[in-house]
Amino acid sequence: MNVPITERLAAGSEVRAWEDTIPFRYEYTAGVAGEKFLRGLRDGEILAGLCPSCGLTSLPLRMYCVDCYAEVTKSVRVRPAGVVRALARGARTFAYVEFDGVKGGLVHTLIGSARVGSRVVVRFRPKRQRVGALSDVLGFERSG
Ligand SMILES: [Zn+2]
Repeated sequence: MNVPITERLAAGSEVRAWEDTIPFRYEYTAGVAGEKFLRGLRDGEILAGLCPSCGLTSLPLRMYCVDCYAEVTKSVRVRPAGVVRALARGARTFAYVEFDGVKGGLVHTLIGSARVGSRVVVRFRPKRQRVGALSDVLGFERSG
């Protein structure tokens, strides 16, 4: 039954609902830049994009520069240490971390405690446990 947009339900008792399943399968790819970034994580590296036009180094790695829109064809290894710029506390605490000389940053689990402004390092899983996913990073841990 089609219901015109001008008709509205007046009472909750008019709502009908049923449950069923839809046989639906999908696959999501990380894309060219995302795959490169994830392969870097597998190798224990944080890769940022380096714009050949304006020289901007940025995270996350993207196909096009966030400042000048030039195609980003190079990536550079970022020193896996940065500064906490924001925290979200809940059952787990997540930190947004910016890396030295890089525009943008990453969000991941905070290991232990830190404050906004704290210096942290990236903790990777042991190499044999890495699969090329964000879970290859255990999180950020306060340094010094
Ligand atoms: Zn650029």
